Amino acid sequence: MPYDLNQLHSRAHSKKRDFKLLAQKVRKLKPQKADELFRQLHQEAFEHIDCLECANCCKGLGPRIFDADIARMSSALKMKTSDFVSTYLRIDEDGDYVFKSMPCPFLQDDNHCIVYASRPKACREYPHTDQKNIRSVLSLCVKNTETCPAVFQIFEKLPGSL
Ligand code: SF4
Ligand code: SF4
Repeated sequence: MPYDLNQLHSRAHSKKRDFKLLAQKVRKLKPQKADELFRQLHQEAFEHIDCLECANCCKGLGPRIFDADIARMSSALKMKTSDFVSTYLRIDEDGDYVFKSMPCPFLQDDNHCIVYASRPKACREYPHTDQKNIRSVLSLCVKNTETCPAVFQIFEKLPGSL
């Protein structure tokens, strides 16, 4: 892991202003160019950042959980959906299902996910840096620099790529 995860939050927080300015520059790029730039930096970051040495997102960020996620996960765990909901989920202030507690109840001590093949859509898509129309999620990406070392690296490398 190229970054000290204990210091990531404060390092990213102290660079937030710079990262926001970089996001503004990316918003001025053509959509395709912005997507291609982020896809390349995302790929580079995950060449040497191993999620199994991190799991910061599974420890600290609660994914939004949709009905299809509930159906998939409860089926994988051979549970009734109603039991799955009452055991693991709560409704947050926005009216969305989220896990009752974090770290995620499906995260194991070795950072593997018990329901990996059936994990929520939000977990599959995190940290969003290789998604289409990256310009629409740049504010979220800046916020994610405080949690995800890969997103932090992407923003650190952006000045050399713009
Ligand atoms: S369901 Fe799996 S991937 Fe999603 S937060 Fe929990 S442990 Fe992480
Ligand atoms: S925070 Fe980023 S690097 Fe860490 S496990 Fe999540 S996606 Fe992987």
